[in-house]
Amino acid sequence: MLLFGTIYLIMGVQGQYLFDVEALRADFPILDRRVGGDPETAGEGEGDDTPLVYLDNAATSHTPDPVVDAISDYYRSYNANVHRGIHQLSQEASVAYEEAHDAVADFVGAAGREEVVFTKNTTEAMNLVAYAWGLEELGPGDNVVLSEMEHHASLVTWQQIGKRTGADVRFIDVTDEGRLDTDHAAELIDDDTEMVSLVHVSNTLGTVNPIGQLADLAHDRDALIFADAAQSVPTRPVDVEDLGVDFLAFSGHKMCGPTGIGVLYGREELLDEMQPYLYGGDMIRRVSFEDSTWEDLPWKFEAGTPSIAQGVGLAAAIEYLEEVGMDRIQAHEDMLAEYAYDELAALGGVDIYGPPGDDRGGLVAFNVDGVHAHDLSSILNDYGVAIRAGDHCTQPLHDEMGVAASARASFYVYNTVEEVDALIDAVREARDLFA
Ligand code: PMP
Repeated sequence: MLLFGTIYLIMGVQGQYLFDVEALRADFPILDRRVGGDPETAGEGEGDDTPLVYLDNAATSHTPDPVVDAISDYYRSYNANVHRGIHQLSQEASVAYEEAHDAVADFVGAAGREEVVFTKNTTEAMNLVAYAWGLEELGPGDNVVLSEMEHHASLVTWQQIGKRTGADVRFIDVTDEGRLDTDHAAELIDDDTEMVSLVHVSNTLGTVNPIGQLADLAHDRDALIFADAAQSVPTRPVDVEDLGVDFLAFSGHKMCGPTGIGVLYGREELLDEMQPYLYGGDMIRRVSFEDSTWEDLPWKFEAGTPSIAQGVGLAAAIEYLEEVGMDRIQAHEDMLAEYAYDELAALGGVDIYGPPGDDRGGLVAFNVDGVHAHDLSSILNDYGVAIRAGDHCTQPLHDEMGVAASARASFYVYNTVEEVDALIDAVREARDLFA
């Protein structure tokens, strides 16, 4: 009965899924592409005869028509610079851009737009905090606690800020199963810890880290906590209050939005205290030859002309995802990842990284015995299957895993069970080819 219930939950009321995946796919014309031709003739169709199976969503997701339309509508109807003009187009653009901040605030449970800074991407959001907060607050004797599974966006940034300030940068161990060693975390986080910066869902291991538990550990020692939510906000409900984080960052391009837009969530009192990261137009209130004062939040951190069309696109992406429902997106991802994990494991000759079971994000990194991940990815490409091969910006973690690279398949709202089957078939072919 329980098993039946689980299958029913996964496969949903339409007999197939929790929502109508086929209807949703129609919003993504790119998914109908065929590939295999010469990349020089991109999009022209020459030699493209293999259906695309896109499983590289952790790197970037596709953009549905309603989001493309929102961006195109902005350029066609009310393109103008924000905050400066009295004229109508500028006012319309300003309202849309500001309301995009409200949509993001609602989406992640922030108190309001003052807590939502638009950046270029997750990487810039992390650098913003590292520079604006870290350079001011850190010094010799302090420490910043990361984990061994951090993306370079966090790892390299804090490492370099550590070198500049003299603060120690420490790394929480990852267990053999690919989980955060929370006992080690409790040892590392001490009275000299100023910041704990952790990835919420690992982009290599798929591990879902217990951010709430780590937030408690950090706050008990008067340290702050920053969640790298690049892989979690796109794929599951995330609420900054529930998580108890001080900062959180994510990117629009991994959640059906455009490139060129990312988000830094920060608690208002912290952002208030921080000095700007970039200086220039739009972020000032009053300027004289001697000194300047700053605009209110969040504009204090958005110097120069911002990514207006991208902000509008991000708001449209949020609306799109919310219509599907973040709970259902998470369940869909979990189902595909668990299925892919089990099928890869059943193949034999495949090493899979990260925890087994349904306690993981919607991605699976693996290696096939005797096949370099790049060769595997290249063979899969011949079958139209797009995955990622490399270190996924987690080189030190790959060093710990004892491999230079891995292959990674990552799923999103529009992927199907048949596409996972296509992945498995192609991996089997590659394995047999090299055997
Ligand atoms: N953190 C994680 C966990 C990621 O997966 C990524 C993107 N691969 C980033 C940070 C950086 O995102 P972006 O390149 O959009 O700045």
